[in-house]
Amino acid sequence: MSSIFTKIVNGEIPCYKIYEDEKTMAFLDINPETPGHTLVIPKVEVDKIYELSDEDYTALMNTVKKLSVHMEKVLGTRTLWKVIGTDVPHAHVHLLPFDKTWHQDRHVELTEDEFKDIQKKLEIK
Ligand code: AMP
Repeated sequence: MSSIFTKIVNGEIPCYKIYEDEKTMAFLDINPETPGHTLVIPKVEVDKIYELSDEDYTALMNTVKKLSVHMEKVLGTRTLWKVIGTDVPHAHVHLLPFDKTWHQDRHVELTEDEFKDIQKKLEIK
């Protein structure tokens, strides 16, 4: 069965898309730790990042870097990276706009309009 992230890649379930290229995709986390919390994924479905081919790993990390630079420019705060991957068995990197009040397991509630606003700010077309 496809992972929830493969379903997003295939357009079977919606997301607040930030970026897409041939090998990677990025979208807002639905349960954000800070506003702008973004997930970057490889389109190929593997559980752990270190199971990716060198080519797919490089593509993933190039997108992580590109979006981190972009997020810092747009939001004015540095971007934290986090890899856990215990909930969704499809490799992904969390990008978190730095926020001094951030701590593990903190979550912020955003309305649909707030998700759309932050998507508009961060998306790269
Ligand atoms: P982890 O596997 O622990 O790195 O966490 C998986 C992350 O995926 C969590 O932060 C979830 O909020 C997020 N997530 C799960 N389903 C979706 C979805 N449909 N759209 C966006 N983010 C999701």
